[in-house]
Amino acid sequence: MICPVCSTDMIEEDFGGLSVDVCKNGCKGLWFDWFELTKLDEQNEGLGNALQQALAYDRTNDQDRGQINCPKCKLPMHVHAYESAKAINVDECYQCGGFFLDSGELKAIRESFMSEAEREAYANSLLKNIPGLADAKENLEKEKERTAAIRNLTKFIRVSYYTTGK
Ligand SMILES: [Zn+2]
Ligand SMILES: [Zn+2]
Repeated sequence: MICPVCSTDMIEEDFGGLSVDVCKNGCKGLWFDWFELTKLDEQNEGLGNALQQALAYDRTNDQDRGQINCPKCKLPMHVHAYESAKAINVDECYQCGGFFLDSGELKAIRESFMSEAEREAYANSLLKNIPGLADAKENLEKEKERTAAIRNLTKFIRVSYYTTGK
């Protein structure tokens, strides 16, 4: 799969049970596939060398790069701003449910998560942010699946999974 930011070939890596596409040879961005997220279970610890490496990537400034298109669907992705000291923007594709995190954003989110309650609040803010989709009946099933994927994404990135080996 081609990186939506720098057009480099992304490499699939195992983040301790979760398969993530990493832009290893380019901008170091991460792609979280919707289907992979729905498979993530309670036991998943989100560990592994690939994840450790990803957490070491420097933060890039994604403010100037403009909107990106989903690497799968080619449709414009939607930005969710995570309000914290570090202002993290997570990109979501409403079509396939995938998420793109720029280099360093996973680390920044993990470091800024303080509690389970805050994780829950973040998941809810992502879920609420669905212009034009929320009330369409035919989207109910899709909404349920989106909810499950977002809950898993926020579980995966929350602070309790954060291991640096220190
Ligand atoms: Zn890239
Ligand atoms: Zn997509």
